[in-house]
Amino acid sequence: MTPFPRDDYRALTPYDPGRRPVSVDLSDNTNLWGPHPDALAMIRGATPDDVRGYPEVYADALRTAVSERFGVPAAGVTTGAGSDDVLDSAFRAASEPGAVVTYPAPTFSMIGELALMNGMVPHPVAWAEAMAEPERLLDPEPALVYLCSPNNPTGALAPEPWIRRLLELRGPDGPLVVVDEAYADFSGETLLTDAPSIDKLLVTRTASKALGLAGLRCGFAVGSPETVLEVEKSRGPYKVSRLAAAAAAAALRDENGWMARVVAECLENRERLRGELSRRNLTPLESSANFLLLPAPSGSAVADMSALREDGVAVRPFAGIPGMGEGLRVTVGPWPLLEKFLQATDRRLAALREVTTP
Ligand SMILES: *Cc1c(COP(=O)(O)O)cnc(C)c1O
Repeated sequence: MTPFPRDDYRALTPYDPGRRPVSVDLSDNTNLWGPHPDALAMIRGATPDDVRGYPEVYADALRTAVSERFGVPAAGVTTGAGSDDVLDSAFRAASEPGAVVTYPAPTFSMIGELALMNGMVPHPVAWAEAMAEPERLLDPEPALVYLCSPNNPTGALAPEPWIRRLLELRGPDGPLVVVDEAYADFSGETLLTDAPSIDKLLVTRTASKALGLAGLRCGFAVGSPETVLEVEKSRGPYKVSRLAAAAAAAALRDENGWMARVVAECLENRERLRGELSRRNLTPLESSANFLLLPAPSGSAVADMSALREDGVAVRPFAGIPGMGEGLRVTVGPWPLLEKFLQATDRRLAALREVTTP
């Protein structure tokens, strides 16, 4: 008899990012300027059939919107209920019991979970070691290599020549390479437009971050039509709801340039926040995304998350970051929100000075 739950599920627990309602939530990298207005208008104009009827089986209108936005063939586009779902489909398409998933770490916290959920074995490689020697990601012979660029939670970008070298090294019988570009709207660097002509490469994107549509659960990915076909088989039908597909398509058309304006302001605020934090000796890592990761040594005033919460501010704590130890990831939003975070941080730093000054 096969036991229930299966053995490799024992290590899994439901996802808990530790979120509680708070007035200034800088913890999840969603768009704090709001949802894309064209997407919201589409939802407000919903018809009874948008809710009553099934969506398109494989979200073809959304695939066309992606195709038109990026100049890629629609047959090279797959979609899902969030990019987590697209990643899950890609993992499932590549999985065999015991198959290995390699990835530069630290990275997106869902990756180890997605590997286990699909019966695969997660094999993290330290980011710096993987950057120095991409071949490290090809040992022990993975079925799938995952790379997040810009990386969550560090904000680091994997240089394009490095990615191309990895793709070359893996050879014709090599693994599927998945490049997660959830934050590429903020870096402007992308492999997406080249992905249809590169064998076994899938570049994933999300509507949850720059487009401001996390509540709709919509993501997509681009690859060669052959790769996309395999991922679509694993995805299955009716994954993206009618309203999510229509709203995401409108946001991707971005007819009034809303996203470009928000991204520009976000980058300006990110560097302004970097300056403010550096002045307080909390120098963050370089970031190509809509967040900053700053050191919060354990036991330090800034590491006291409950105190920040009392001030109505939430950020995301991380432990075990190489060269940093504990750190806080802060989502960049409109300046008044960041000012509240800085004020709360200053109160913590002042409280610490009172304790340590005789
Ligand atoms: C936020 C995020 C996603 C987006 O996931 P959705 O399921 O589309 O909301 C994907 N990858 C990374 C690295 C992220 O940080």
